[in-house]
Amino acid sequence: MRGLMQNFPLHENSILDHAKKHHASREIISRSIEGPIHKTNYAQIHHRAKQCAQALVKLGIKPGQVVATMAWNTWRHLETWYGILGAGAVYHTLNPRLFPDQLNYIINHAEDQILFLDATFIPIMENLAEKLPNIRAYIIMADKTAMPKTKLKNALCYEDLLAAEDGDFQWILTDENDAAGICYTSGTTGNPKGVVYSHRSNVLHTLIAAMPDVLGPGNADSVMPVVPMFHANAWGLAFLAPMVGAKMVMPGAKMDGESIYELLDSEKVSFTAAVPTVWLMLLQYLEGGNRKLPHLKRVAIGGSAVPRSMIEKFDKDYGVTVSHLWGMTEMSPVGTTGSLRAHHGELDYEDQLDIRLKQGLAPYMVDMKITDDDGKELPWDGKSFGHLMVRGPAVARAYLKGEGGEIVDEESWFDTGDVATIDAEGYMQITDRSKDVIKSGGEWISSIEIENLAVGHPDVAEAAVIGLPHPKWDERPLLVLVPKEGAAPSARAIKDYLKDKIAKWWMPDDIVLTDEIPHTATGKIQKMALREKYQNHRWTDEAG
Ligand code: ADP
Repeated sequence: MRGLMQNFPLHENSILDHAKKHHASREIISRSIEGPIHKTNYAQIHHRAKQCAQALVKLGIKPGQVVATMAWNTWRHLETWYGILGAGAVYHTLNPRLFPDQLNYIINHAEDQILFLDATFIPIMENLAEKLPNIRAYIIMADKTAMPKTKLKNALCYEDLLAAEDGDFQWILTDENDAAGICYTSGTTGNPKGVVYSHRSNVLHTLIAAMPDVLGPGNADSVMPVVPMFHANAWGLAFLAPMVGAKMVMPGAKMDGESIYELLDSEKVSFTAAVPTVWLMLLQYLEGGNRKLPHLKRVAIGGSAVPRSMIEKFDKDYGVTVSHLWGMTEMSPVGTTGSLRAHHGELDYEDQLDIRLKQGLAPYMVDMKITDDDGKELPWDGKSFGHLMVRGPAVARAYLKGEGGEIVDEESWFDTGDVATIDAEGYMQITDRSKDVIKSGGEWISSIEIENLAVGHPDVAEAAVIGLPHPKWDERPLLVLVPKEGAAPSARAIKDYLKDKIAKWWMPDDIVLTDEIPHTATGKIQKMALREKYQNHRWTDEAG
């Protein structure tokens, strides 16, 4: 017997329709690129997204064509996304921190037709424009008074474009399995690869993210996605907030401690999300002025492992709960969260912290396992390290134009490139990217664990551990540290600090201080660059 329920297509614009109908006056507050704070609501965003879709159709955009955005999180970026989707087109978020060559490659590879950009990014595009024959128009996301002079041919003013439309428009609804958005992986090895989300996968991912143990903000929340919309879809928050009718607070171009604090305070933000480096900046700013966070309840942190000291600080000094999140662009991006099970309530704080530091539990619709080099599944014992494999309706099955070949096996398992353990309760813990693992005497050392402990030292701002060749042990760990301003911790002090916290043979053989650790466009430590920099490093004790 077949079910007799409605086959209701999972189309992303139904989210904005819902927000308009049920949460029309709920606010979206943005720090505009021009500077002042801007206020709007879901009804207006809906109307302007329709105007945007109309304008795109007038500019000749056809269903299935790709329209790029290079923009910070603001109300205009939000309405642009829904406008592109509503025209039946596909949004392609560009990370402005990518190298010009990578931007050039991905804009041409995705065959972007039109490019929306914040005025601040005009210089980047002026330098690239002549290599981008497909781009028919550059739409500057500003009003006429803020339109800078530009050498870009076919530059149009966003506000003028919208003002010419009446918003009387039916969304162009394509099949739920059609492409909705494209985001390229950062491409630390080789060219970046395009992950192509469908309407269906994005709606299902929003439902995953909406679960209380995942991100789960609700209608009463004031939600600030600090994580940019160009970084893995702002982890789904641009769909999740309108779906539940939460207030949105968009930080625009400013993510320094002071600017973030200002919005957290004035807009009574209760839920926010970003990578660890953003929170390091905020915590430093808070400490500098004895400031508090009375409204903030929860902060989701992911993209890199969260240091223990960060969770502790948020908990103890500010009464804010950290949700540790692991994911990747290919997973839309949510994978796991370090949430506690009911019986963990009985544990003392330090033991709870041990669990919350793990990357965590997989929600419904994310399936995971670990395997050895031959693909054999490894036990969930918290000790066996293996290749982390995932599958689910919001996990990629191929890259755009088949780049990279087959990326899933016959059972749809996708190799994340992470090495992890899973314990008996199902908590996954990342030990390394597989290309960064340190193999010493045939055993693996977790660089992430050492890094997280090292940043707990009061003199350390940032830490990276890399494996370098060693005559006796194959590889040994080198700890690279950026000291806090004015500090110069000695190797002895750091080793003493780590001594009781890690196994003896995990102790870095050498510790070097540096001014800066290189990062990728999404804020991750570039281990390859560090390995190159220190390739001629001589161990102080060659005998090991
Ligand atoms: P994103 O663009 O979401 O940062 P990427 O696809 O660039 O995702 O990178 C995903 C990788 O980032 C993961 O495979 C993992 O190595 C790392 N990562 C993400 N979150 C965490 C975390 N909480 N702890 C450790 N590593 C993480």
